[in-house]
Amino acid sequence: MRHITILGATGSIGLSTIDVIQRHPDRFRVHALTARSRMSELAELARRVQAAVVVVPDDAARQRFLTSWEALQPAMELPEIRVGAEALSQTAADSACDTVMAAIVGAAGLPAALAAARAGKRVLLANKEALVAAGSLFMQAVREAGAELLPIDSEHNAIFQCLPHHATARPQEHPAPGVQRLLLTASGGPFRTLPLAQLRDVTPEQACSHPNWSMGRKISVDSATMLNKGLEVIEAHWLFAMPPEAIEVVIHPQSVVHSLVEYTDGSVLAQLGQPDMRTPIAYGLGFPDRIAAGVAPLSLAQIGRLDFETPDLQRFPCLQLATQALHSGAAACIALNAANEVAVAHFLTGDMAFPGIARVIDSVLQRAAGQSEPRNLDDILALDAQARRLARLEVMQSRQTA
Ligand code: NAD
Ligand code: MG
Repeated sequence: MRHITILGATGSIGLSTIDVIQRHPDRFRVHALTARSRMSELAELARRVQAAVVVVPDDAARQRFLTSWEALQPAMELPEIRVGAEALSQTAADSACDTVMAAIVGAAGLPAALAAARAGKRVLLANKEALVAAGSLFMQAVREAGAELLPIDSEHNAIFQCLPHHATARPQEHPAPGVQRLLLTASGGPFRTLPLAQLRDVTPEQACSHPNWSMGRKISVDSATMLNKGLEVIEAHWLFAMPPEAIEVVIHPQSVVHSLVEYTDGSVLAQLGQPDMRTPIAYGLGFPDRIAAGVAPLSLAQIGRLDFETPDLQRFPCLQLATQALHSGAAACIALNAANEVAVAHFLTGDMAFPGIARVIDSVLQRAAGQSEPRNLDDILALDAQARRLARLEVMQSRQTA
């Protein structure tokens, strides 16, 4: 029996995780659920999976959780309610759980994901921003604590599945033997074919209507700018110890081939499946066993064709910015991610146009250049905070000149 904590339980990945867990009551029990908002939903989920613990951000949220819980009138006892960021990290390291799904969005999820790694848990990592901001520190923590790390991001999960059989959930410091290149597929997002001039006018709703995947709003916008794929190149670099030049992005609009591994003998192995996150989640939960995920079988005849093309860096400059950051070093990757989080939030509230996202990132990367490399979590959080300040300034200035 695995005892599971879900960080970010009310999100898109969190809900899919609960869906898979509930298909296997003989294998999994939920220890803790955490969320930042939507307390009535959290109460309903906690009741449904009989969570022992919930973690909420502050006392107001705690009160909302209590009110919602009472309204549900469950026959079961109230879960223990823990409050605040410190409690979030403590819960991720709690001895009562052995598996942690890291599904908080953004660098905000880093401290808790890192705490889970340091506590030697099986970490199911969806929160890619944690690796982008702290790749070296995070991987070192995983190795030192003997934690297991299973990538949940569909591309990285696909690559993990295509690596040699002796690839374990304990990450190595060197590329897997015989592996020459990783090929990350990208759907191209909702604006894959939109002309450059029209990108100025796209709305948050359009950006969040992904053609193949249903996801949270932040990652949906990242897919539309293609920064998501840039973050994933950085993620792949850390997860699989591959040099940046051995990681290539290829557009694949159908999102059926989730990624590929090229070997020195010319073999290319791919993992295929429906675009449904329950497949990688079930893989991580069950590893090394294969367990049912509730995902419909793939009908290749119905899909008919699989297309591939080269990404257009002129219309999607974010991809290039991420590669640049990876070459520049850890401080640049932190700035890239933080600037993007700020820019996307402004785009989503409607006070900045879509192309502004790439402009803000570019400008923050330039202004933050030459920073000394971070040595620990405090350094990382300080660089992150500084890049957010620069990004907010940049957004304000771009509004004044607009
Ligand atoms: P989401 O916005 O749907 O959910 C985010 C969850 O995190 C919610 O439970 C929210 O309450 C919680 N949260 C948000 N900010 C928080 C904070 N500051 N502190 C604590 N909790 C906070 O996001 P999602 O789409 O589920 O994505 C989660 C992560 O998984 C992201 O890093 C994303 O890049 C990654 N991912 C998602 C998908 C997908 O299909 N949704 C696919 C691959 C990777
Ligand atoms: Mg992905």
